[in-house]
Amino acid sequence: MEHLRWPFFEDRHRAFAAALDAWAAAHVRDAHGRDVDALCRRLVRQLGDAGWLRATVAGTAYGGLADVIDTRMLCLARETLARHAGLADFAFAMQGLGSGAVSLAGSPDQKTRWLPRVARGEAIAAFALSEPDAGSDVAALQCAARIDGGHAVLDGEKTWISNGGIADFYVVFARSGEAAGSRGISAFIVEAGTPGLEIAGRIDVIAPHPLARLRFTNCRVSLANRIGAGAEGFKIAMRTLDVFRTSVAAAALGFARRALEEGLQRATTRKMFGQTLADFQLTQAKLAQMATTIDSAALLTYRAAWQRDQGDTVTAQAAMAKLAATEGAQQVIDAAVQLWGGLGVVSGHPVERLYREIRSLRIYEGATEVQQLIIGRELLKGAKS
Ligand SMILES: Cc1cc2nc3c(=O)[nH]c(=O)nc-3n(C[C@H](O)[C@H](O)[C@H](O)COP(=O)(O)OP(=O)(O)OC[C@H]3O[C@@H](n4cnc5c(N)ncnc54)[C@H](O)[C@@H]3O)c2cc1C
Repeated sequence: MEHLRWPFFEDRHRAFAAALDAWAAAHVRDAHGRDVDALCRRLVRQLGDAGWLRATVAGTAYGGLADVIDTRMLCLARETLARHAGLADFAFAMQGLGSGAVSLAGSPDQKTRWLPRVARGEAIAAFALSEPDAGSDVAALQCAARIDGGHAVLDGEKTWISNGGIADFYVVFARSGEAAGSRGISAFIVEAGTPGLEIAGRIDVIAPHPLARLRFTNCRVSLANRIGAGAEGFKIAMRTLDVFRTSVAAAALGFARRALEEGLQRATTRKMFGQTLADFQLTQAKLAQMATTIDSAALLTYRAAWQRDQGDTVTAQAAMAKLAATEGAQQVIDAAVQLWGGLGVVSGHPVERLYREIRSLRIYEGATEVQQLIIGRELLKGAKS
């Protein structure tokens, strides 16, 4: 927690992080289980009851901690929760990502209906953007939204939808056709149980969490559920990801910090060759590299979060944070597995779980290669102007 003294933070951030750390240690440490649906529902409820989800929504009138989402608070929460339990971080993050479009661009009615329930953990949110043929190239999405009087009629498929199957509402991005490409997409709130919305299949991944394919067949949604005006969907999706991208870096940081804690514990207790593992300089080099990677990632993450909270555009900074923190965490966790030897690959061991949990962070919300492209583009923009 020494990094909390960094000048990026104010006392309210320090108090929040310390209180959440104590709460997470007492209530959700290493939360895992076979029934991830039940576990995630419980975690959302616990996080809501304790008030932590207030950091995921904007507007004090709607249960939020502040009128705009405080990026440093979001990042500290994700770092802390990820260090204690990956699924607790997942449950927290998805409430924010799933309701982010409503916070940023929802009507007063939409905010009143959903945000207080999201903040209390009474409604589970999901963000439905990706499709089988539109992942990194998201502007290629094909799910259609045909306007018919006061309704939009959705037809198509979404995939990789976190909280798919347990969400109470989905923010769905669909092609409304005002123009080609990114300028013809709108965003809609679709409640679970709406006729024509079906969970087409669940997806099992290496770090299990609720994840599904959604199918829309003649699914009628009132235009009162459209977020923003028609054709604003792509912009809304990008604005939402812009808030949450830095928080993915923070989650990676939390996983990496836990890996270093576990690595240090093993290195200082494992006896071999008449010494402890930590007595070998090769081990010290490994630990030094782990700590340096973590601090570099933390500096980039909280720089981006702080700058965003100052109102700056942080396109390149957030991309650098996500790139460095997720790639770095993968290396740190791999080193921790190595320090634990055979025990490090035993199913359910903390470092084995981290090894599986970190992997998808290098893919979602913009894969590493996409972050590289963003940074390169921003650099060249500066060089040409
Ligand atoms: C666990 C998990 C949870 C997810 N949750 C959600 C969710 O809740 N909601 C949602 O909408 N989506 C979600 N996603 C989807 C996620 O955002 C996509 O997987 C991601 O955008 C990548 O898309 P893709 O899988 O189609 O891979 P592709 O787009 O096919 O990319 C494959 C690889 O190509 C490379 N690549 C991409 N662009 C370039 C380029 N220009 N040059 C060179 N290489 C490139 C990258 O390495 C990339 O990883 C989730 C994914 C996972 C794995």
